[in-house]
Amino acid sequence: MPGASTAYLLDKAAAGERLYFDEALQIYQEAELTELGMAANAVRQLRAPGRIVTYLVDRNINYTNVCTVNCQFCGFYRPPGHADAYVCSRDDLAQKLDELVEYGGTRILMQGGLNPGLSLQWYTDLLDWMRSNYPTIERDCFSPTEIANIGALSGLSVRDVLIALQEAGLEGLPGGGAEILDDDIRNRVSPKKQKTDGWLSVMREAQSLGLNTSATMVIGFGETLEHRIRHLQRLRALQDYSLSEHGNGFHAFIAWTLQHSEMTSAGRSRHRDQYGATAHEYLRHIAISRLFLDNILHHQASWVTQGPKVGQVSLAFGLDDFGSTMLEENVVSSAAHHTHMSMLEGEIHALIRDAGYIPAKRDTAYNLLRIFEHEEDSPAPMPINYQSRSVGLPVEPQMEVIPLHSSLN
Ligand code: SF4
Repeated sequence: MPGASTAYLLDKAAAGERLYFDEALQIYQEAELTELGMAANAVRQLRAPGRIVTYLVDRNINYTNVCTVNCQFCGFYRPPGHADAYVCSRDDLAQKLDELVEYGGTRILMQGGLNPGLSLQWYTDLLDWMRSNYPTIERDCFSPTEIANIGALSGLSVRDVLIALQEAGLEGLPGGGAEILDDDIRNRVSPKKQKTDGWLSVMREAQSLGLNTSATMVIGFGETLEHRIRHLQRLRALQDYSLSEHGNGFHAFIAWTLQHSEMTSAGRSRHRDQYGATAHEYLRHIAISRLFLDNILHHQASWVTQGPKVGQVSLAFGLDDFGSTMLEENVVSSAAHHTHMSMLEGEIHALIRDAGYIPAKRDTAYNLLRIFEHEEDSPAPMPINYQSRSVGLPVEPQMEVIPLHSSLN
């Protein structure tokens, strides 16, 4: 409705009605944080009603840091031949997967750089090996950017690469590499990386093949609110298409803020003050995303980038999922002032309960594996392994203590 008030638009969104681009922009520009949170929570209760907040026990393995694309925000990659370049060996992977099984994990999320030395056969052998040796672990591997790179190196179409990987055991794709799905921004911060249409078309093919997918977004590149809403609009359009054509779309949406430090060229740049986003911006953004993405059921917190406390607060801004234990994570931590980030189940439970919700363990497709109705059902909280590299705190001697790039061969 032309000239509608922001209060009217918030009510419209809270009732579950679809927002047009200009309406979302007006809300983004004018609504108060608390109003956004209340509207987003109302929509959360419409789409994922109740007091359950889910989480996943998984491990993030960065199988190689070799990459030929030097994104300005990345502190993780190493060019081919670099002294610190690595590809995880099978022994490394077996150790990580054994630990995940021992801990009760259900999913491996595997991502890496665009390594020109790895063939399609290397990827299919890896998946087949994981399927044979760790049949209980779901395999969500290789972001759309990596899939396109495998296609380019092997001379195969994206669809043929996905079919070959799926036959070898691939069950889903991580949503990494989306950042801002607008080529204005991509051409500035990652000019050699896959463009907007490329990322979306890999996801479209993956969804048509029945693979699990999630949608991601990173804010803080100096983009405008219009850029952000265009990103959401592109995800919503793909989701409409995939659900109607294949009955399979993104399971979830996850946004986070750009992490940068002197480890990245963005962080060393004289324009570094223009990068990043505050917790306030993050909360506004996740609320707008819940209102705009009316066809993506689950919205996930990013405690890895925001810290456990903001992650907890974000549950009041339309989110219904706390993310995962992240028993290993190197890419985000390489770009920021963090050592290594992981959280054990007991700590996740404590944060969820303290916010007034009930923790429930899920799988990749958001099927509930166990609801922890009562506090006595929860594992005891352990110290959180989330520390600032800059203050040089020691890493807690707990289950998972892996220094950055420990898998270097
Ligand atoms: S973000 Fe990914 S594609 Fe970009 S440089 Fe890092 S590893 Fe390579």
